[in-house]
Parts: sequence; structure tokens; C-alpha cells
Amino acid sequence: MSEKSVEVVAMVDQLKKFFKHLPPDLKKLYEKMELTEAPTKKTQTEKDLSEKGLMTYIPNWKLDNGIYLGNWRLMFNYSRTAGYAIGTFLNGLKEGKILGRKCNVCGRILVPPRLFCEWCFRDTDEWVEVADTGIVSTYSVSYITADPKVRLEKPIISGVVWLDGTKLETPASKTVRHWGGFMHHFDEVKPEKMKIGMKVKAVWEPPENRKGSILDIKYFKPI
Ligand SMILES: [Zn+2]
Repeated sequence: MSEKSVEVVAMVDQLKKFFKHLPPDLKKLYEKMELTEAPTKKTQTEKDLSEKGLMTYIPNWKLDNGIYLGNWRLMFNYSRTAGYAIGTFLNGLKEGKILGRKCNVCGRILVPPRLFCEWCFRDTDEWVEVADTGIVSTYSVSYITADPKVRLEKPIISGVVWLDGTKLETPASKTVRHWGGFMHHFDEVKPEKMKIGMKVKAVWEPPENRKGSILDIKYFKPI
């Protein structure tokens, strides 16, 4: 589910002038929503949309000389397929397993999994279970959420975990890199105790609460 807030400025005085130029479909919609008049009250259509949960409506606000500000929050329900690679990965999480794809030529284990190895220009070969332990690659401590006016008592710590057993040297540059890891939250740790390179372990939701989501892992904690 996604929410989008859309601001609409309706210049009512001018609205009538260009109304006659609107395409018939849009004209019909404007008529239905009573937008050809000053939008000062909630219309029946808006009420219906709100009741269906499709839109929430904040009443119009008169700014100046026939300029009204309307604030709409549109709510779209949609779903999309996760695909074979991520779908298998998410199903693995439901079973309490972190699954990666291994390329048998370069030896890399890719988490989140990918079906194609861009080093070797070939399909990856097999599913492998990866440890739910690793090290902190990077992290940040945040005392604010989407609303910056509110300072959180307990900060949100999030960052990237490199999973154990997924380290491999890049042949050309001889750089050692982890190919398995993802962003997640950290907990059971004081912010000042967080360190890059710190060993961590996944804390899982109990099996009955798992949904096949990255949040089946509640957070990572230090070990
Ligand atoms: Zn490869």
C-alpha cells in the first residue's frame, strides 16, 4: 500500500473560463465532483471515496481572491509479483532461512539472490542457505522519523549487515568484498555501542508470525 499526498490549487474564478475547453470525460468528472463551483464543502463524491477508503479529504482552505487549496491523500492498493528469485528468498525467510544464489564459476554467493552472474555472464547455479550472522558494514542512528519535529526517546538504528560466508575476493582488484547482505534494523544495543565490524545475529519473529517478508527478521543484535 502506498499513500500519496496531492495538493490541488483550484483557481475558481479561472476554472469556469477554461471549463468549456476541457475534454468531455474530465468535464463530466469535474461536474460530478462539483469543482465547477467554489469547493468550500465536502461533496457527496468525495464522501463516497473517503468511505471506500480510496481517498481521505482535508477540507478546502480559502487562501486569497478565489484561490482555494485542497489537500488530498490518495490511497492505492496494489500488488506485484516478487518474481522467482526474491519470491524464493522471501519464502525462505518464512522458514527461518536466509537463501542466496551461488555462482559455481566465480564462487560468489549473492544475497538478496540474483539469477544471473554479471561477472561470469551466465546463470547462477544453486540455492544455498546462508548464516543469519554477520558483521555490521555501516549503520546510522536516527532520532527522528518522517516527522522531524518529534525527537525519539529510543533512536532507530539501521544499517547494512554483511552475512557470514559470503565474502569473496574480486579477482581483478584483489578487493575482498561481501556479496551477501542487506539493510536492516539493529536492537538490544545502545547507540554508542554500535561499531562497524561488530558481530551480529538475526532475531527472528516466531514461526507463526512470519509472513515471507524481510521483517520476518525483527532486527539484528550484537553477539
Ligand atoms: Zn560468477
